[in-house]
Amino acid sequence: MYKMMTPGPTQIRENVRMSMSIERGNPDIYEEFCEFYHETCLMFSKFFNTENEFYILGGEGILGLEAACASLTEKGDRVLVIDNGVYGRGFEGFVSMYGGEPVLYTVDYKNPVDVNKLDDYLKKDSNFKYATVVHCDTPSGILNDVESISNVLNNYGIMTVVDSVSASFGEPLSMGHIDILCLGSQKALSAPTGLTIVGVSDRAKKSMEERKTPIASFYANLSTFKTYYRDKWFPYTMPIYDIYALRSALENILNDKDIFERHKKIGSAVRNSIVKGGLHLYTESGFSNTVTVFNVPEKILAKEIIDIMKNKYNILIAGSFDIMEGKVLRIGHMGENCNVSDVFETLKALENTLLQLKFDLKCSISENFIKEVYSI
Ligand SMILES: *Cc1c(COP(=O)(O)O)cnc(C)c1O
Repeated sequence: MYKMMTPGPTQIRENVRMSMSIERGNPDIYEEFCEFYHETCLMFSKFFNTENEFYILGGEGILGLEAACASLTEKGDRVLVIDNGVYGRGFEGFVSMYGGEPVLYTVDYKNPVDVNKLDDYLKKDSNFKYATVVHCDTPSGILNDVESISNVLNNYGIMTVVDSVSASFGEPLSMGHIDILCLGSQKALSAPTGLTIVGVSDRAKKSMEERKTPIASFYANLSTFKTYYRDKWFPYTMPIYDIYALRSALENILNDKDIFERHKKIGSAVRNSIVKGGLHLYTESGFSNTVTVFNVPEKILAKEIIDIMKNKYNILIAGSFDIMEGKVLRIGHMGENCNVSDVFETLKALENTLLQLKFDLKCSISENFIKEVYSI
């Protein structure tokens, strides 16, 4: 198997994989499972410093984003779609699919959303039911200050939906005024693919209760989880093995006391080393410490670099998609991938690949990384 240094899915620690191989019983009629599920959800609330309830849904990260929009949107609702990246813009589709009226707030894709400018915009037009914003927009690696953004939106009585699928657990975050917080299992959490975790504020729950029209989905309807704990009943059979693995991954994170510090140190050392080696980062500021995104050098194809790294060095890094396709490469140093030895090997393979492709390397990226990360 190759070393998976992509920005999700990430590598999965052995204890997480092993927890899936233990027999667990029937999640529908096994009450202890409901307790286990509930306890795991409370651990998420605690991690994000909130009393808000969390739910674990059987479906990848995208299900969380769609469920947020399906559950909040009624026909004709105006929704502010904050767009400074591919996922940011992607919310437009979910909003209109459920009858809402998306209003794009499009800004520069190379810098984070400027909170003061957003505030100025809202002074002129703040008639929105909710807004959507992405914490780390993974195709470009831009990091938005979603806590400050949700505070500003809250001042205008606007709810906030945040996609933190590829930032959370690598970047610190408190739920604060965020109304629906969407997470995924297979990014920095480093659990197997297949789950989304959503935190829902009381205001968001109330908004769902006060809807005039029913939610146009069953699977993406967050209100079906409302009484699961009281009734010991789930709207559909829970993927019990995935949830046990998720719990193990979450426990690994809770036992990892310097997780944010390590992401910061490794993220910054990767970026500095890439630049010193003569490559260029895609964004200008607001770098997420979970992923590094750099431009494909001239006269070299993204695919050539990815293929050599995979076939010759057994390491998988990622290209990108949508408007970034073929233009950038991405190294995911989040969660289990965020350790000096794996990142060093990745950078070593990258520099050897670049040399093979006759790139004019300015210095050893991997040696520079070691110097930076150990401050020598
Ligand atoms: C990975 C990711 C998702 C979820 O996508 P999946 O295809 O379900 O894994 C959502 N938002 C962001 C920003 C992501 O990086």
